[in-house]
Amino acid sequence: MTLSTIQTTTGTATPAELGRTLIHEHVLVGYPGWELDAKAPKFKRAEGLARAVDQMHELQAHGVKTFVDPCPMDLGRDVEFLAELSQRSGMRVICTTGAYFEAEGNTYTFKHLPMEEIADIYIQEIELGIGETGIKAGAIKIATGAPAVSDYERKLVTAGARAAKATGVPIISHTQDGCCGHDQIDIVTGEGAPAAQLLVGHSDGSNDPDYHRTLVERGAFIGFDRFGISMFQPDEVRIANILKLIRAGHLERIMVSHDSIMCWLGRPVPYAQTFQALLELLPKWRSTHFFKEIIPALLQEGVTQAQIETLLVDNPRRFFQLGLSG
Ligand SMILES: [Zn+2]
Repeated sequence: MTLSTIQTTTGTATPAELGRTLIHEHVLVGYPGWELDAKAPKFKRAEGLARAVDQMHELQAHGVKTFVDPCPMDLGRDVEFLAELSQRSGMRVICTTGAYFEAEGNTYTFKHLPMEEIADIYIQEIELGIGETGIKAGAIKIATGAPAVSDYERKLVTAGARAAKATGVPIISHTQDGCCGHDQIDIVTGEGAPAAQLLVGHSDGSNDPDYHRTLVERGAFIGFDRFGISMFQPDEVRIANILKLIRAGHLERIMVSHDSIMCWLGRPVPYAQTFQALLELLPKWRSTHFFKEIIPALLQEGVTQAQIETLLVDNPRRFFQLGLSG
């Protein structure tokens, strides 16, 4: 049965209440097995929470009302941490069900469960809640690797599409190296959900305007959601490609974010030996970067303030509204 309201970690919201929304950011991330790394600095929960509250307050100063954390189940997801952060900061936080791509996620359990049971698990986390927390997922995470979708990923993406069709919640994806977005659309629409219920995430990893154009022409949302991660793509390239889409009339299909992370569980290997070192390596990779530097750059190129609000407010609203009943 499709939902009639948007589910957050602390309750519900109407589409109109979302306001300025960052569609793909993270509070807490740890790769599978992070807890095995006895040499990693111990995660200090209270300290991490205080740091996250400060960062939410910074975002609120930029008018952000809703923070979507599409952390996969197998990447250190901690929805009680998110709910507590939401209560303390006043930021609306939405969490997801769904698992990561094979190379960086891949649990033994999901490898062996059939697709139908995984779909049921996702639906249960949306309709009944995650574990014993009572906190319900408000969206579904799907993920694919590169250069092709593996059998494992195909099974999980199909399960995610089926759960999206059943519940009406939107799907936020991970893609690797800016590829396989069309495969994701094929699977999602093959399960009967409209392409517009899917955000093809991390598409800014591709520097191919034809790839971007063909994704949005099929009706999917496209994620320019890694602003500030210069090791994957310079922001200049992201801006040039986003401008091409806007000038071609596709403003209403674009979603912006940073894929930023506030707290790291374990060590961020292989990228750096400590989270602090990774932050120093990527000085622009902060959840406020779009407001501080990218909006001014877009305005400079002739994008209007109203178009900025379409990116930050209208597009996330339509994305979450699409599958709701009533
Ligand atoms: Zn992410």
